[in-house]
Amino acid sequence: MFRRRSRIDREFREVQRAGQAMLAAASGRSLPEAPTQAAASAEPADFLPPDFRAPSRQDVSGFMMRWDPPLVIDGEVHACHCGAYRNWIVFNMRDDSVWLRCPAGHETHEPCLDTGWYNRHSGPVDRFHPTLEDGLRHLDH
Ligand SMILES: [Zn+2]
Repeated sequence: MFRRRSRIDREFREVQRAGQAMLAAASGRSLPEAPTQAAASAEPADFLPPDFRAPSRQDVSGFMMRWDPPLVIDGEVHACHCGAYRNWIVFNMRDDSVWLRCPAGHETHEPCLDTGWYNRHSGPVDRFHPTLEDGLRHLDH
């Protein structure tokens, strides 16, 4: 009971930190010191001109990241049918699905993972790619 609760608390804090970091990166501003400042410095959400705004989830077909260590899903190391079990590319598509791409290029939908999982494990978005191929090149795949 206690362990489970602290795990949930830790995950929540991680998500919160990731969200704050993403917001800070997107707006180019530092994090507010205290939540009470939010009311005082309330600004319209879209204070940036459209050209300067980072694409939102609706504007991109998906997100991708490298996952080099073995990927453990439900307590088991996930392996591709070709035997690969590390150096994945993880995709999070606009429909909330998560796909895994092994180093040999096999792509499979992973129903046990979703956008929530992806957001907990990915860092802030640092770059946008015009094509999937461009993204794979950037991630060295
Ligand atoms: Zn494979």
